[in-house]
Amino acid sequence: MPFNIAIDGPAGAGKSTVAKQLAKNLGYIYVDTGAMYRAMALYFLRKGINKDDAGAIEAACEGVEISLEYKDGVQQIILNGENVTSLIRTEEVGNMASSTSVYAPVRRKLVELQRKLAQRKDVVMDGRDIGTCVLPDANLKVYLTAGSRVRAIRRYKELQEKNVDCSLEEIEKDIIERDYRDMHREIAPLAQAEDAVLLDSSEMTLEEVLCEMESLVEDAGSKGCCGC
Ligand code: C5P
Repeated sequence: MPFNIAIDGPAGAGKSTVAKQLAKNLGYIYVDTGAMYRAMALYFLRKGINKDDAGAIEAACEGVEISLEYKDGVQQIILNGENVTSLIRTEEVGNMASSTSVYAPVRRKLVELQRKLAQRKDVVMDGRDIGTCVLPDANLKVYLTAGSRVRAIRRYKELQEKNVDCSLEEIEKDIIERDYRDMHREIAPLAQAEDAVLLDSSEMTLEEVLCEMESLVEDAGSKGCCGC
């Protein structure tokens, strides 16, 4: 049986950095489900579909084929045969993903793909609904969070390093809005699963979070070795 680790939490809590590193240490596959919602969102944006047009979104889902590939161990997201990995990290795509992930046809399509991957391989999968909906029987579930101000500062620093002009206030406002949408949508809202371990990284370094994760993985009886 594959060993499945589910990491959920709000935007900017450090899920992907932690999940990626953990998967590497364990020799597991890292599955970034947010990237799938972003690839779908890119498709809707390219088609000029309005985020409020449920009918158009449902119809468009028929024409989308999303798959994952791994290049040097790094997840590549393929949208209808095109590698869109470098095109999905913009604020525009992120906001469209947050708005369109509320629709059942979008979620149905992606959850099916996510479950298939986890049935075949040992995975570290991160997202919003992995522990509550996608993999309810995951061997380990972690809910990784941090205060909105801390998350905004992390994002602000990342953007500054890339010389992107931005405002800390705007970033925090955006994060709060996205959290609200993700936590209050009807289908599979962001929530801590009852059996998930809560990890608040507000006052922790990345190394401390990783160390904590690795000991949780060991306690859960993982087959892999983190080397810790
Ligand atoms: O994690 P990331 O910011 O890349 O996710 C983009 C958006 O995709 C989130 O704001 C959320 O609305 C949606 N998402 C989701 N379920 C997941 C992963 C992401 O609804 N499992």
